[in-house]
Amino acid sequence: MNTTTNAIHSTSGSAAAASPSRIPITIAVGDGIGPEIAAATRLVLAAAAAPLEFHEVTVGERAYLGGVSSGIPDDAWQAIRTTGVLLKGPITTPQGGGYKSVNVTLRKVLGLFANVRPCASHACVPRSRPGIDLVVVRENEEDLYAGIEHRQTPETYQCLKLVTRSGCERIVRYAFAYALANGRRRVTCMTKDNIMKLTDGLFHRVFDQVAAEHPGIVADHQIIDIGAARVATRPEHYDVIVTMNLYGDILSDIAAEVAGSVGMGGSANIGARAAMFEAVHGSAPDLAGKGVANPSGMLQSAVQMLVHLGLPHPAECIHNAWLRTLEDGVLTADLTSSGAVSTSAFAEAVAARLGQLPQTRAPVAYGASLRIALPDIPPLPAEVREQVGIDIFLHHVGQPHDLATSLLGVVGAGFDMTMITNRGVKVWPDGHPETICTDHWRCRFMSTGMVAVPFAQLLALIGRLDAAGFDVIKTEGLFYFAGKPGYSAGQGA
Ligand code: NAD
Repeated sequence: MNTTTNAIHSTSGSAAAASPSRIPITIAVGDGIGPEIAAATRLVLAAAAAPLEFHEVTVGERAYLGGVSSGIPDDAWQAIRTTGVLLKGPITTPQGGGYKSVNVTLRKVLGLFANVRPCASHACVPRSRPGIDLVVVRENEEDLYAGIEHRQTPETYQCLKLVTRSGCERIVRYAFAYALANGRRRVTCMTKDNIMKLTDGLFHRVFDQVAAEHPGIVADHQIIDIGAARVATRPEHYDVIVTMNLYGDILSDIAAEVAGSVGMGGSANIGARAAMFEAVHGSAPDLAGKGVANPSGMLQSAVQMLVHLGLPHPAECIHNAWLRTLEDGVLTADLTSSGAVSTSAFAEAVAARLGQLPQTRAPVAYGASLRIALPDIPPLPAEVREQVGIDIFLHHVGQPHDLATSLLGVVGAGFDMTMITNRGVKVWPDGHPETICTDHWRCRFMSTGMVAVPFAQLLALIGRLDAAGFDVIKTEGLFYFAGKPGYSAGQGA
């Protein structure tokens, strides 16, 4: 843990400037263990005399069951917009169906692009691996979390992974700014750009560019699979990790567990116009109502919120009391197998230690003046974009060679069929007999001579295929951007 400062973001436009006495914030207790850990967190905030004015709203399962299909009623949106700050308990999201994630909706609608998840060891927690002091800076709006999914054939389902240049740059610049503001020396980027060369490749490329502007910070890149394995086995080697949405979600749970328990991790979701603070864990339905959940994650997110609001004194007071509580062996059931205390007893123990400092490590001190200026991303310069072909996806049951023969009969002048893939693997020309094919085929048609092709010709090609009885399910344009292809090759091509 950085002992001098832990700046998170700029407070421009936040409620911090609204009142010199009590700062209005919105609170939603959430589902499952949410009400218990929120009550514990409020108990400590009140005992620390944090100058906050709470506006309570209901979001999540209860709102959904009350007839609000998004899980976020209008009054909640209004309160969040007015206060600019939401302290939120975990929300239950149904698996494999049902309503969409309220957490993801809040993050994306409010433009909370940076998810900051600090994680540190605690010598006093039996399962905590020593030496951990890392922060996962997770991109929060893009990637597979775009939530755009389709069933396209009887067999095949698709989830779109959307990654933008500005989204990558915003989070990467934020990670470096965070490192500078918090005296951290290393930023590690994690992607899977050996496989996803365009999307993850963009994230890595942007990282390298931004890293070159920060010679004082060590920058490196790891492929996410080995990176995640190393976070599990050698977490002490990491400082700031910047990564894409899904990887960051998984990585921060791994880090929190290795540091002791997923119940310990807090997070800040930062945007230019609002911020949301929540534990990294979920609603833990298995513990709900039992009074045994660890409230530390939500308490730590409240500490991050106080720093965000420009209230370093109560933030460090609560953080130090919390460290002292753990040192004194006051532990919830996720941290110890004997003598565990309840959620509320843990909160009371923290409240009783306000004003005390940890004895076995340096106390935390938050700098009031350090602010991270949120990155201003300029628009991309205009680029020449030319469509030189089209991938036409077909629903078809059969053999690659037969499909190719029938397609070649209807392609017509102006296009060359260059490739057919099945689940991304090239099966024509020169496919391999071992490849297992499904009912979802991508057929690539390039304009003859690779020249720009008018849209009407592409439509005519699709029309010819349709008229010949092919079951066209979707298309993707094949573009050149400033002379460079904007599409991937087939696997094995
Ligand atoms: P979870 O984090 O709720 O629970 C995983 C495990 O960790 C469980 O064994 C649980 O008992 C334990 N655990 C979690 N928080 C704890 C705490 N504070 N103290 C002690 N033990 C704790 O993950 P899950 O079971 O995969 O998900 C449950 C629900 O939470 C799902 O509906 C999921 O969508 C949702 N979820 C919400 C958020 C969020 O609100 N930001 C994040 C993750 C999951």
